[in-house]
Amino acid sequence: MDNRGRILGIDLGTTNTCVAHVRNHVAKMVPTDRGGLTLPSVVALSARGELLVGGVAKDQILTNPRNTIYGAKRLIGRPFQSRIVQELRDHFTYDIVAGPGGEAAVKLGEKVYTLPQISSLVLAQVKTVSEQFLGGEVREAIISVPAYYNDNQRNAVKEAGRLAGLEVKRIVNEPTAAALAYGFNRGLDQTILVYDLGGGTFDVSVMKLHGNVFEVVATGGDTFLGGVDFDNRIVDHVLEEFRREHKIDLRQSPIAMQRIKTASEAAKIDLTLIPNVVIELPFIEEHRGRPLDVRMPLSRELLERLTSDLVDRTFEICDQVLASKGISPRAIGEVILVGGQSRMPLVQQKIRDHFGRPARKGVHPDECVAQGAALLGDALGQSDSGALTLVDVLSMPIGIGAGGGRFRRILDRNSSIPSSRSFRLPAPRPGASQIVMDIFQGDSDEVVDNEYLGTLRIDGALAGRKIDFKLSEECLLSVVVDVPEQGPSPVELATRDTPEAIKAALAQDDLRRRQEHGTHEAPPRGGILSSIRRIWSG
Ligand code: AMP
Repeated sequence: MDNRGRILGIDLGTTNTCVAHVRNHVAKMVPTDRGGLTLPSVVALSARGELLVGGVAKDQILTNPRNTIYGAKRLIGRPFQSRIVQELRDHFTYDIVAGPGGEAAVKLGEKVYTLPQISSLVLAQVKTVSEQFLGGEVREAIISVPAYYNDNQRNAVKEAGRLAGLEVKRIVNEPTAAALAYGFNRGLDQTILVYDLGGGTFDVSVMKLHGNVFEVVATGGDTFLGGVDFDNRIVDHVLEEFRREHKIDLRQSPIAMQRIKTASEAAKIDLTLIPNVVIELPFIEEHRGRPLDVRMPLSRELLERLTSDLVDRTFEICDQVLASKGISPRAIGEVILVGGQSRMPLVQQKIRDHFGRPARKGVHPDECVAQGAALLGDALGQSDSGALTLVDVLSMPIGIGAGGGRFRRILDRNSSIPSSRSFRLPAPRPGASQIVMDIFQGDSDEVVDNEYLGTLRIDGALAGRKIDFKLSEECLLSVVVDVPEQGPSPVELATRDTPEAIKAALAQDDLRRRQEHGTHEAPPRGGILSSIRRIWSG
């Protein structure tokens, strides 16, 4: 069977997932749910104990909010204890718990699911409907992630693909995929800005296009800024007005909260097209046997007042990213909008004011990422894959913990990838036999504010040797210590590598080497840790 067109480009979104394939050099969307082009990224457990995915799962969000998992993209690859996860626990209606490796996980009924498992159910559904549509098995995919995703998150998405039975040929940054959808094979020579305001995250990338060379010049974003924050502003407004009128706090009722959230998002979307709406929610609460309703007019103007600081924040981030490379907003040749929230009229108006030109029409904000991913997949599958060159950058610094909780950057923001940085291993702490290095990723100068990626424990005898932090073209980290007598031994850090996991890997490695050497004493560890990848994956 012809395999062309059988590599999927998947945009695994916070709210919706969509998929494209390429036929005759043209990227086309695959219908995924009820004839539509998007599949809600929702997984639920029905009252009858069935696992539901997509539209049917989303349908029961009002009646069964505790067993309906949405927004997995905001949680995947994050430690349970991280500040973001703890904050999200207050916002989400389902239970977020600690998974087996200390990562955030979720509860459906009595069972705990990891986020890669949840996302794999969405991806498996995408695989099945694509196979039905394309008429044959599909094994390979390119999956897009926000440029801002760290190493843990990228690995977790790869794992989700693997669990869904897909070989993930490449993780691609969403803005890069969007730029491909806009400029592939068009022979352009310009600097563009991709403004991606999705359901949960904001990403901005400045890219130079020369023919089919797509070079990311700078990138930035906020993993905590997206459409749901706009919804929450309306939700807070509704709650406040209701409390003022009835002296009742609806936050106590999960079902009322879910109804308000759903109505707020719908009102926000309607206000993109029309200037006034009314949020109507009959019987939202009962008071002394009397039903109470929400009936609240909302104008576009009020929505803009409630959310203008969120929009302003996106432009502050654009300015920082441009300033980091000394590029003026007026030097941008085209602005590409991605993500549903970028449809908001206020966003479009501010794009015009800020960049002196309207955003590019004709690139579909919901579809371009999946299409770009599919084009990349197609290009990778061709013998002449040199026809396309992607030059991407690291969006968040990677470094190690230094004394006093400080963060020492090893790989800087906007390092082009693949890339590598080496330094000499320091001496172990006084009295210690090992050099211990905690690896983090993030923008803060304090390690506590950054994401923990893993810990390296290296034989103290190797102090002074060269150590390399290497980034693959998918922006995945591996660490190599130069031990010429043994050859370099790479360590790949993966999502589930926790200190416990590393200890278990070390113990296993010691046992193996003792057996190999037939001795009770493990011989000194050669380079760095042996591979610790996937030990929890089982
Ligand atoms: P995405 O992650 O790209 O699927 O973006 C989904 C987000 O876009 C959600 O927060 C939606 O509420 C929001 N959205 C979708 N359509 C519109 C619209 N017409 N106007 C404003 N926001 C929208």
